[in-house]
Amino acid sequence: MNSQNNLEYSKYSEHAETSETIRILKEFRSQDIPYNRVLSSMCTTPHPLALKAHEMFIETNLGDPGIFQGTKKLEEKLIGMIGELLHGSEVAGYICSGGTEANIQGIRAGRNKMRDKIKDSRNPNIVIPKSAHFSFEKIGDILGVEVRRAKLDEEYKVDVSEVEKLMDENTVCLVGIAGTTELGQIDPIVELSKLAEENCVELHVDAAFGGLVIPFMNNPYPFDFQNDGVSSITIDPHKMGMATIPSGGILFRNESYLRALEVETPYLTSRTQFTLTGTRPGTGVASAFAVLHGLGFDGMKKIVMECLKNTRLLTEEMISLGFEPVIDPIMNVVSFKTEKAEKIRNELMKRRWIISSIKEPRAIRFVIMPHVTEEVIKEFLSEFRKIINW
Ligand code: PLP
Repeated sequence: MNSQNNLEYSKYSEHAETSETIRILKEFRSQDIPYNRVLSSMCTTPHPLALKAHEMFIETNLGDPGIFQGTKKLEEKLIGMIGELLHGSEVAGYICSGGTEANIQGIRAGRNKMRDKIKDSRNPNIVIPKSAHFSFEKIGDILGVEVRRAKLDEEYKVDVSEVEKLMDENTVCLVGIAGTTELGQIDPIVELSKLAEENCVELHVDAAFGGLVIPFMNNPYPFDFQNDGVSSITIDPHKMGMATIPSGGILFRNESYLRALEVETPYLTSRTQFTLTGTRPGTGVASAFAVLHGLGFDGMKKIVMECLKNTRLLTEEMISLGFEPVIDPIMNVVSFKTEKAEKIRNELMKRRWIISSIKEPRAIRFVIMPHVTEEVIKEFLSEFRKIINW
């Protein structure tokens, strides 16, 4: 390796297309499975507006907002826009690495705010639905909170009476999910909000996926800050917001939650920091803003409606092949019961088609993202028909 050559950036770009480095990069990248054969991911091909914005903000670091003042203001504007979508009047928050970080920060803020209010501050607990994303496993471990899992009802929504049974004088936070990872189900957030208010505990809503689907549906379920008990919401632009990865979102009802997360930052341009990571990209902010602002409410609704239409198309075809959906799809996630779930998934994988399988109940799972077009579904089904006749 010649270090002098590596520093000559101009020469680099001249030979970019033919250089050995690019050849290696292309070779590895070509081993990835293209999104048009992936029917299980909650991420998608970024929108062209997101790509343009990403390129413009590629060197930004929001970990040092005194330097990137414009990017910081753009983040505030974006949080305001998402806050409005989520019916909050005083929301505060930031764009992070994804749903996992957003969930960690939502629970961490709630725990910190409740610390002096519970009986034993060393033994806080949270009550989450059994259907919660596995990021809550990490949360229990990292934050030292006991994670209690409440049973679901027959529609795979959390059973609020089970949540109530699991609460005690050391409960700091309840969790509801608006768009479960496996089935796209929405928990009864309205009832959870009342329960949280009655018991003076926090309520975190994990709308990592559903947050940018539900608001654009006809008759959207009220999962957001319009419920007085909701304290924080996870909502990820790098899922249905078609932003570039990483772009997760954590929004709080008001600024006081950010104060509960703050640490001092002796050497930076800002005095304190409430984020989990230090250095963090502005690309997620720029790409998320570009899509939401560029498409507007109507443009987003059009894309969501198309995904819902394609979900119905896949569901009807699967029913005609003898498969039964676990629940009637609420959003663009749908799972079908089958004891052969893993076998089907593996067989499709051999043919470079990606779906996922779930265990309770045994089912194959699909996420109909914008890249899963009618054409992709038809192509998939013709391959699928070949493998189910064992
Ligand atoms: N919450 C829900 C409901 C999810 O579906 C996911 C991921 O699919 C996450 C959280 C975690 O998000 P990320 O993978 O961006 O950390």
